Amino acid sequence: QAKKEGRNHVQFYQKGLGKNLSNRLNLEKDLRYALERDELILYYQPLVNVVKGRIMGAEALLRWNHPKLGIIPPGEFISILEDTGLIIPIGEWLIQEACRQQNIWVQKGLPALSVSVNISPVQFKSNILVKAVNNALAHSKLNPSFLKLELTENMIVNNIGETLKILNELKHIGIGVSIDDFGTGYSSLSYLKKFPIETIKIDRAFIKEIDYDRQDQAIVKAIIDMGRSLKLDIVAEGTERDRQIHYLREVGCETVQGYFFSRPVPADEFEKQLFPWNKLARELSHQTYSI
Ligand code: C2E
Ligand code: MG
Ligand code: MG
Ligand code: MG
Repeated sequence: QAKKEGRNHVQFYQKGLGKNLSNRLNLEKDLRYALERDELILYYQPLVNVVKGRIMGAEALLRWNHPKLGIIPPGEFISILEDTGLIIPIGEWLIQEACRQQNIWVQKGLPALSVSVNISPVQFKSNILVKAVNNALAHSKLNPSFLKLELTENMIVNNIGETLKILNELKHIGIGVSIDDFGTGYSSLSYLKKFPIETIKIDRAFIKEIDYDRQDQAIVKAIIDMGRSLKLDIVAEGTERDRQIHYLREVGCETVQGYFFSRPVPADEFEKQLFPWNKLARELSHQTYSI
């Protein structure tokens, strides 16, 4: 299954499907029905605390199971959803679906897991985000502290007043906000002080060579020190090798997400892997390593 999907991904990137105009028009047409035809699915990737040695949560990542083309990754169609406004209803569904899945895990007695949902700039600006969150929480009866929204820096630097209002409302509801792809946006750092933010996720670009590149090490160390002083949780994205994880833990980053543990997987696969992942996390937490 995973292998098959992996091949599909490669194929899509080569063809640049979403960028070709006639393909894009076809995709756009098909996307209009994707939600009602149940073709949209969420995959989940574990967030792993390698100090506590356990899986803390899951990031929900959208996939489109196209009837003819197979599984399409979000990079190929999110921009179409945004341009057509489809991201509004689909964005609402995403939050609902993630809460529904989290609730299932609670019912099944799995260890407590938070679930993170990516929010599009279009969705953030649309004024329905808070309502969508409230609806989803009411529906699923999920404890709000287990829902997290991932925003990017560029989304929150414009219109500071309005942003602050939304973020305060979300905080009041009790859900956490993470800054995704941290370090890649155009923004000043002052927002970290102004806005109620819980977590920063250091972009994969800085993590890729973190086990040997001195400059990346300097940047990431500075981000971690700053984040810790500001009492923020820190997540490193895109950890593929244990050496990266060891390094990150050594410099004070407790939580990692990346292919070393797993690619994003369907919910049932996530459930099956949870115990082996927890075991691996526990083992890593006991290993000593010096950099
Ligand atoms: P993101 O939120 O930064 O998500 C992380 C992306 O990095 C995911 O790609 C994930 O599969 C990939 N990744 C995770 N670990 C590794 C690793 O170790 N190595 C490498 N090379 N890649 C890794 P994916 O699922 O293709 O999603 C791409 C982007 O699409 C996401 O980036 C996010 O910006 C957007 N996206 C995904 N789902 C949604 C959604 O439901 N709503 C919105 N608005 N955007 C979404
Ligand atoms: Mg994300
Ligand atoms: Mg990210
Ligand atoms: Mg990223």
